[in-house]
Amino acid sequence: MSVGLFNRAVVAAMPFVPRPLVWRFSRRYIAGVDLEDAYRTVGELNASNCSATIDVLGEDSTDPEQVQSAVDLYLEAIRGIHARTLDCGISIKLSEFGLRFDVERCREGVRTLLESAAEHGSFVRIDMEDSSVTSVTLDIYREMRREFDNVGIVIQSCLRRSESDIAELMDAGPTDVRLCKGIYIEPGEIAFVDPDEIRSSFNSLLEQLFEGGASRVAIATHDPPLVEHAEALIEKMGVQKDRYEFQMLLGVAGTLRRELVARGHPLRVYVPFGDRWYAYSMRRLRENPNIAGHVVSNLLSRS
Ligand SMILES: Cc1cc2nc3c(=O)[nH]c(=O)nc-3n(C[C@H](O)[C@H](O)[C@H](O)COP(=O)(O)OP(=O)(O)OC[C@H]3O[C@@H](n4cnc5c(N)ncnc54)[C@H](O)[C@@H]3O)c2cc1C
Repeated sequence: MSVGLFNRAVVAAMPFVPRPLVWRFSRRYIAGVDLEDAYRTVGELNASNCSATIDVLGEDSTDPEQVQSAVDLYLEAIRGIHARTLDCGISIKLSEFGLRFDVERCREGVRTLLESAAEHGSFVRIDMEDSSVTSVTLDIYREMRREFDNVGIVIQSCLRRSESDIAELMDAGPTDVRLCKGIYIEPGEIAFVDPDEIRSSFNSLLEQLFEGGASRVAIATHDPPLVEHAEALIEKMGVQKDRYEFQMLLGVAGTLRRELVARGHPLRVYVPFGDRWYAYSMRRLRENPNIAGHVVSNLLSRS
């Protein structure tokens, strides 16, 4: 059976797998269901010299109540992180803040969060979702960046537009960018689909970010050749530690993560939590069946 077929078979079987078993698959990637679980995980990461960013699981809010509860939970997280002096920011998805049904409400929610984060010395990263919302997400980021220093954005190397998006962002002033491959499956007209093209785009966008003077770059990948290239570039360009960090997902590539930390690189772990873990796990798997392969191989390798 080909790898693609195997991954699709795992995804097709998932709805028939009992929840407790899905939880056993998912739990290494998710801190738990409530904020206390997230704080505990972040505390452990901080003790192993990693910073963190908390993500409240949930996306595509469809009514104002859902948006309000997301805003409230994030506000609580910002206060809780501050009270516990954790080294941790937050990551948000604009669709959770109502982007798809009320852009103005979404802006208000993000602004409320940024005000609280600024007050508590916290940093907010706006995650990037699928290509239907790339432009509006960048617009909202730019708007917020004019008012706040403590906000960053994400660029996906699979998108053909990313080189010009980076150029525009940097023309507008200091920019804090997380660079990742992009998790959503996108059409070939707008995205690279060949894994080597996505890698090569990642490498050249990273150079563009460093050369263009991005205020900070988060290198979000577990792909060893990309990590190697990034390390070589950091060394060659003499990039200082306050201008970059590696980022990885909770539960993924633990060995590589520890090696990077041991070599003295700043490293942040993305820590998702929340009671919507089941819907989140299912949706991620449906959107990109390759994740199923990662999950199974990671379970077997226990990295
Ligand atoms: C901190 C962080 C934030 C991110 N934010 C965004 C975002 O805002 N928007 C967006 O579109 N994408 C985001 N991503 C996801 C990213 O775009 C990639 O889909 C993901 O990181 C896999 O790509 P990779 O570079 O690790 O390479 P891959 O070649 O896909 O993975 C390399 C190896 O890492 C392991 N691995 C990778 N991903 C997983 C996984 N999910 N579960 C288990 N094992 C895995 C596997 O062992 C795999 O062989 C983020 C990733 C990270 C690390």
